[in-house]
Amino acid sequence: MPEPRIWDVIICGAGLGGSAAAEVLAAEGFTTLLLEKHSVPRYKACGGGVTQEFMDGAQLPENIIERPVEHLVLHHLGNQTYEKEGKGACLWRADLDAFFARQAVTAGAMLKEREQVVAAHKENGLFHIQTSQNAFQARILIAADGVTSTILRCFGWNRFKPEEVAQTVTHEIELGEKTIAQRFGEEHLHLYFGHDISPMGYGWVFPKRDTVSVGLGCRLTHTKNLKESFDNFLRFLKKQLAGGKVVHRVAHMLPAALRQDFGKGGLLAVGDAAGLVDPLSGKGIPYAVTSGQLAAETAAYALETDSIDQASKRYHSALEENLLEGLEAKRGIQEDVYRTEANINRFLQLWLTHRATVIASSLWHASQ
Ligand SMILES: Cc1cc2nc3c(=O)[nH]c(=O)nc-3n(C[C@H](O)[C@H](O)[C@H](O)COP(=O)(O)OP(=O)(O)OC[C@H]3O[C@@H](n4cnc5c(N)ncnc54)[C@H](O)[C@@H]3O)c2cc1C
Repeated sequence: MPEPRIWDVIICGAGLGGSAAAEVLAAEGFTTLLLEKHSVPRYKACGGGVTQEFMDGAQLPENIIERPVEHLVLHHLGNQTYEKEGKGACLWRADLDAFFARQAVTAGAMLKEREQVVAAHKENGLFHIQTSQNAFQARILIAADGVTSTILRCFGWNRFKPEEVAQTVTHEIELGEKTIAQRFGEEHLHLYFGHDISPMGYGWVFPKRDTVSVGLGCRLTHTKNLKESFDNFLRFLKKQLAGGKVVHRVAHMLPAALRQDFGKGGLLAVGDAAGLVDPLSGKGIPYAVTSGQLAAETAAYALETDSIDQASKRYHSALEENLLEGLEAKRGIQEDVYRTEANINRFLQLWLTHRATVIASSLWHASQ
């Protein structure tokens, strides 16, 4: 089929947010172009931890599950340990994102890889997108291009401020399947809290089949020397990581605050580009997918009813109905939770028996 001269929707970024949006739009018959700067699959810095709820909703195939998870182990200050039930899995984002991209293509979206968006503007009611190789036009534009979103900067959005992002560093360390089970447990995720590890964030060990993702995150305003903190964290885990081979090292930003706006007219931002990440846990996978789907539903309605200028307003309402309250409540307690070791400990104890959203919206204040 020849490509349309004007696409109904162009989506920048074939991460989870972008591909989830593309699948919904293409399935509804809209001409949908998904632009990705890398080849798919691509590596993405991520613990790759997902809940059972997410796995069921996305109907993930068994073969991308690297390791089922049954327990979360919460460490505090190197001597306190709490264990919490937490059903889910760990997987590689390369596999998960490729699965979502394939679903979008199967639904009828056009995926163009190695096509980096470098400029975008709006003229005569149409979005004009310039990539490293081509130029495209669309009636609606979805920014799904992550925390440093080129699209949003083209339309005058500022980068996230230092108090709105966390800096992270990750090492992928090959240890072997049996060794991981012996040293970290068969089906356990480990989270390490305490100011000696991260003054506003935490360290983690997320096990895949024969590799562990070892990472550390800290809000940028509280980061003195992340490399030094990470080296200390590795020393702290020295025994458990002994004999491991570092196969990948990566630093990456993670949003820790919502954007003030999530779009303008027919421009909609999803996932990390919109700051839709849990500021307490750094969980962003389900928010990327849900916001992608909500943006797509909004875009479909706007195209059908010829109300593109109202799209961002409708999208904001959809986010409010589905996601924003919990994320805002968590952002509201984040600084207090990390203020003292006693507060961190109180949060971890509450977390053993309650969801973080419930703690943030009521229990944290009630238990002070
Ligand atoms: C170290 C770390 C660990 C994490 N661990 C977890 C976890 O265990 N569980 C969890 O739920 N969340 C986790 N997160 C958060 C999660 O990874 C993100 O919230 C999620 O990836 C957001 O998805 P997205 O689709 O919005 O953006 P991304 O996954 O960042 O995708 C954006 C896509 O856009 C492409 N792109 C960017 N710029 C352009 C351009 N100019 N042109 C074309 N394409 C472009 C990129 O190549 C990429 O494919 C973690 C994050 C980090 C940094």
